[in-house]
Amino acid sequence: MSVSVCLLFPDLLGTYGDSGNATILVQRLRWRGIAAELTVIHSGDVVPASCDLYVVGGGEDQPQALAADELGATSSSSPLARAVDSGAVVFAVCAGLQILGKEFAGPDGESRAGVGLLDCATSPGRRRAVGELAVEPALGLGLSRTLSGYENHAGVTTVGPGAEPLGLVVAGVGNSSDSGVDGARAGRVLGTYMHGPALARNPDLADLLLGWVVGPLEPLDDTDAEELRRRRLSAAGGVPASGVAGILPRTWRRILQRR
Ligand code: GLN
Repeated sequence: MSVSVCLLFPDLLGTYGDSGNATILVQRLRWRGIAAELTVIHSGDVVPASCDLYVVGGGEDQPQALAADELGATSSSSPLARAVDSGAVVFAVCAGLQILGKEFAGPDGESRAGVGLLDCATSPGRRRAVGELAVEPALGLGLSRTLSGYENHAGVTTVGPGAEPLGLVVAGVGNSSDSGVDGARAGRVLGTYMHGPALARNPDLADLLLGWVVGPLEPLDDTDAEELRRRRLSAAGGVPASGVAGILPRTWRRILQRR
C-alpha cells in the first residue's frame, strides 16, 4: 500500500512554508519504510477524491476565496467532502481552516460559504493577530507537547458544537482573543492557525495525522525538530518546551461548555 498525500493549491494557499507540511508527511512515512506519494493540485486541476491525506495552507483573502470556489464550497458534493466521507484525513492551516468551516469573510469582508467540513465560522476581526502562537493540545488527542506556530490573520473563528478546538492558547491569539483556543477538529479533519510550517515544528502533530491513516507508528529521531520547537516557544515569550503541565480536564470541559 502507498499512502497518497495531496497538497491542495500551493499556488493560492502556501504562505510561511505551509506547503512543506505535505513534504514532511510524505518524508516521515518514507523514513519508516512506508511507501508514500505526493500529488500536487494547482488551481484549475481536478481535485481527486481518492487520496488518503489532504493538506491545505494559508494565504491572502483573494486567493483564499478562489480556493474555496475551487473546492466546490457552494456545490453539494465537493471531492474533498467525498474523500472525508471515505475516511480521508485533512490538515488545514489558517485560510485553509477558514474555508473548511461553514462560512468565512471574503476579500470584501462579506460572509461567504465555506466547504462545511468543520463546524466553525470566521468573520473579520478588529485587529490582525501576528506573531508566535503556542497551544496546549486538547485532551483526547494523545499529544503531550506544547504546539508551536506562527500566526498572521485578520479573521476571528468561532467553533460550534460539531467540532472541538485543537487546543488552549498559551501564547498568541489563535481563533480569537475572547475564546482562548486555537483551531478546530471534527473526526479526521483538523485545522489550526499555526503556520511555520506547523508540522516541521510539531512532529507529534504530523504523526497524529499519519497515525489516523496507517495506525501506530514507530518513533523517529526528532532531535532537530525538537530544537526548533524549543527555540520558537522561547521566542513566544518563554513558553516552556516541556509543556505547561497540560490542560486540566475541568478546564477543558469549561472551555467546551463556554461555546
Ligand atoms: N486571509 C485570512 C485572514 O487574514 C487568512 C490569513 C492566513 O492564512 N495567514 O484571516
